[in-house]
Amino acid sequence: MCGIIAYHGPRNATEIIVKGLKTLEYRGYDSWGVAIKNNDKDFTIKKIVGKITESTDVDGMPKSNIGIGHTRWATHGGVSEKNSHPHLSNSGKIAVVHNGIIENYQEQRDFLIKQGFKFESETDTEIIPNTIEYHMNRGYDFIDAAKRSLNHINGQFAIVVMHSQHNQIVAIRKEAPLVIGVGKKEFFIASDIPAFLDYTKQVIFLEENDLAIIDNEDLSIFNFKENLVVNRKTTSIDWDAEQAKKGDFDHYLMKEISEQADVISKVVSLPAKQIKDIANEIREAQGIFFVACGTSAHSCMNGMYLFSKTAKTHVNFCVASEFEYFTHFLNKKSLVIAISQSGETADTLAAIRVAKERGAKVISIVNVMGSSIMRASHKTILQGAGPEICVLSTKAYTSQIAILSLIAHELAGQQEEGRSKLKELIRYIYYLTSKAMRDHIKELSERLRYTQHIYLIGRGLQHPTALEAALKIKEVSYIHAEAYAGGELKHGTIALIDKGTPCIVFTSDRTEKEIMSNASELKARGAYIIGVGPKNNELFDFYIKVREAEDLNSICQIIPMQILAYQLALLRGCDPDKPRNLAKSVTVK
Ligand code: GLU
Repeated sequence: MCGIIAYHGPRNATEIIVKGLKTLEYRGYDSWGVAIKNNDKDFTIKKIVGKITESTDVDGMPKSNIGIGHTRWATHGGVSEKNSHPHLSNSGKIAVVHNGIIENYQEQRDFLIKQGFKFESETDTEIIPNTIEYHMNRGYDFIDAAKRSLNHINGQFAIVVMHSQHNQIVAIRKEAPLVIGVGKKEFFIASDIPAFLDYTKQVIFLEENDLAIIDNEDLSIFNFKENLVVNRKTTSIDWDAEQAKKGDFDHYLMKEISEQADVISKVVSLPAKQIKDIANEIREAQGIFFVACGTSAHSCMNGMYLFSKTAKTHVNFCVASEFEYFTHFLNKKSLVIAISQSGETADTLAAIRVAKERGAKVISIVNVMGSSIMRASHKTILQGAGPEICVLSTKAYTSQIAILSLIAHELAGQQEEGRSKLKELIRYIYYLTSKAMRDHIKELSERLRYTQHIYLIGRGLQHPTALEAALKIKEVSYIHAEAYAGGELKHGTIALIDKGTPCIVFTSDRTEKEIMSNASELKARGAYIIGVGPKNNELFDFYIKVREAEDLNSICQIIPMQILAYQLALLRGCDPDKPRNLAKSVTVK
């Protein structure tokens, strides 16, 4: 997790780094820190516990052309100033920011302690500057020492290193994201593109095991696994800097919820040829597996229903972190479809690795161009949903479902029909995020703001909708929310339903009869029933009308629930964009 940014060029590094960190904060917000190089002398360091957006105190920081910054999601060592990055070597000459985990840090720390090094933090990161220093003490220059250090550290990491007496910055990527922004006589290094989007749209995606050296106006890249100098192409990004900003909205969450109509129109304009090509891969495969985590896992569940109903195609689904225990039957004919907004999810990447080891083909659906999952896949559909900054995934989710629906329709020989259905929905999606809808849901959020538990049920395509709605509520309002397939609640959990327990019931024309029986079982125990669907019912104490959209009900019905989660967060004083304990792209296993 965590966000890294570094700058080397003619502008004021402090300003660029602090601004960049604010856009990266969604990746981790336990603490933040910057190190700015003072003319060949030393560094000015600032470390603050908490979010950078709450305490941008950089008064007295020098103007300099070189610097690094970090916003932390702690993995090793508590949330404290001394554990915040950047970390320095014992001499104070080498400064490092790090995203990821050093697995052998205990061993290496013991080794360095035996060599006389001292440690100030509890982090795994602190061994990095000291290992480099160890090699410099033995006569290697800065760059060679950085390269040699890689023989001593295992794990997943993106690292940026600078030295107080050198003008170079070294950036290293191994299983954690790192991109270089290329400007005019200037370079940016960051965990994610929005960090420097205001300055350049030209980017170089570092590949696995790349070590990049920025030396004044020059950039060279060395692959430490292949042990050779490599060329990486520069890509032009079509994201707009404005898209990565909040605009008129108070929070990214509401902004991104409101962007869903546009996001669906992006899916409508995906090339027919690309969808055809993916459908052909699916037709040829023997054994298809969806893998993903969190919200994307719910997209996969939608995919299972859509493929079954529309395409009459059987797919298996497994959360990515469990996939390695189910892979014994994978072979060269198997196809794994991996879904991830960030394209950096460590569990999904691990599942892809296992699949490839067994010869399976991998197709991914990701939102971030050049991401690790995109590069690890044989083929990718880029979602084009634009930057999703809020930690909660909203627009990326509905765009994934729209893409899966298009593929399912193509498999059934009806791609154009699938496209038209999505197109027809766009106006209605605007309505679902309108003020009228938000005001109506506000009444419900007032009613639910002090509740401790919410139960949600749905059948068929409404089952993943219930799961996703529960996840949104939990993530951002910290209310316990639990979702079930409509028929399942009575097999145990109904014991928890009491007078006034809020239960959200998702309905559709297809499932109405059965789900209303389940709703009435809940009502009989005193539940407060909230209905979401095309028809009102006397069992409902509160009703949110969402028109019937058949296979696309999942897109329509989740939107009022995203709004509900947002409003609950506001009423309960929770941060809608950066919920506690979470980070946007989960780059650790
Ligand atoms: N493992 C490092 C730490 O706990 C880096 C964590 C991160 O990626 O933010 O400080």
